[in-house]
Amino acid sequence: NFRVRFAPSPTGPFHIGGARSALFNWLLAKRYGGKLILRIEDTDLERSSRESEENIMNALRWLGITWDEGTDVGGPYGPYRQTERLDTYRRCTEQLINSGKAYHCYCTEEELDAERQRQMDKGETPRYAGHCRHLTPAQQKELEAAGRKPTVRFWVPEHQQIVFADLVRGTVSFESDGVGDFVIVKSDGIPVYNYAVVVDDAMMAVSHVIRAEEHLSNTPRQILLYQALGFTIPEFGHVSLILGKDKTKMSKRHGATSVDQYRKLGYLPEAIVNFLALLGWSPIGEQEIFSLEELIEQFSMDRVAKNPAVFDIDKLNWINAQYMKRLSAAELTALALPHLQVAGFVDQEPDAGQMVWLEKVMDAVREYISYAAQIVDVVPMFFAEHIEFENDAAKQILLDVDVAKVMEVFCSKLQALETLDSSSVQGLLKSIVKETKLGGKKVYMPLRVALTGMVHGPELDQIIPLLGKEKVLSRITASMS
Ligand code: GLU
Repeated sequence: NFRVRFAPSPTGPFHIGGARSALFNWLLAKRYGGKLILRIEDTDLERSSRESEENIMNALRWLGITWDEGTDVGGPYGPYRQTERLDTYRRCTEQLINSGKAYHCYCTEEELDAERQRQMDKGETPRYAGHCRHLTPAQQKELEAAGRKPTVRFWVPEHQQIVFADLVRGTVSFESDGVGDFVIVKSDGIPVYNYAVVVDDAMMAVSHVIRAEEHLSNTPRQILLYQALGFTIPEFGHVSLILGKDKTKMSKRHGATSVDQYRKLGYLPEAIVNFLALLGWSPIGEQEIFSLEELIEQFSMDRVAKNPAVFDIDKLNWINAQYMKRLSAAELTALALPHLQVAGFVDQEPDAGQMVWLEKVMDAVREYISYAAQIVDVVPMFFAEHIEFENDAAKQILLDVDVAKVMEVFCSKLQALETLDSSSVQGLLKSIVKETKLGGKKVYMPLRVALTGMVHGPELDQIIPLLGKEKVLSRITASMS
């Protein structure tokens, strides 16, 4: 019974690291015919919000990651939101306290700080020394009467070696003596992450816990809790951190870090999924573009790397560009339209004629962009009133002695042209090259610069029909003045 889970804390933007964890779990569930649980870990009451939950779920849906059990679809092990499971945690806490494996702790923050300071002054690793372990019921009553609200602390057994076989990292071992008694339930009755996650993973019959490496150091505490509660310990696999290209932990400094940011920039979900799959997992062979089916077939934990994954935005852009090539002109236009509208190039409600023209523009420029938001950098030549030269070198081209001749011939031939399309423009350009005997470059370059301001870009036979005679002629005139 293969059961995995993705357990986000709904406390802010949905990070690509979270999306990668979700994807790995989803791929494994699909590959092994198992179930994926989506559990909302909202015990941080102040930072959690329903809005963030919705964001996460929408981002997952956008990526095509589906779940079998969760807050929205229900399931046999619900509820799937931690704040709705407080009774379950309470029952487990009673069990732990009754069996002497956990106890009420009345120490205040100030007392704990002072203890920590004393230990550090002596050069010791700070750790709870067990002050409240042996309080009598009478002492507890007294402290409660004095207004102290207890936390529940787990009594960490001494001299234990905690060993587990991590699916990514191999054998991992910890000494229990390095772990002081830790709080499992706060004084307001809310369980801490390390505790709630164990109760939930066990009660939800999770067989494999696949999550980010940052939780590796939590695992020994969690294993001790599994043992104390008499639960079966699942398999663990800790997936490496994601680093920026400079090998520091991926953060806002490296650019967009949330799934939503990439969606808004016009990346395609299939491309993001493809990219995320390769972030820590390496397939056999050189293939880089994978359909979901191929990923499901090939993904396995034994090819998930131990060393950190590097987030290479150039690679994401390359992958996205591969997927964009598959889009029809209409699909590409739909993707680009919001960006064109925000930039003011296109009206809020373009008419049918405009859309037909726009689709042709998209086809002319598609090879110059890797994601939709870049469209605004490459279309100004089709919309601008005045052409701006990209640099002096471009301007220089128009100063050549033969330019006037080229322009003159071009304008008169263009005016005489009956149908303006790619092949008629090709014929026209060829005839100018022939008649002027100037060679292709001397004809095409000044025209390109006069019409677009740039020395590179789409072919003239694409640009000219899209601009239309009037615009072409006025740009040529402007360039000559
Ligand atoms: N809520 C935790 C997080 O978002 C989940 C950790 C886990 O998968 O155990 O980091």
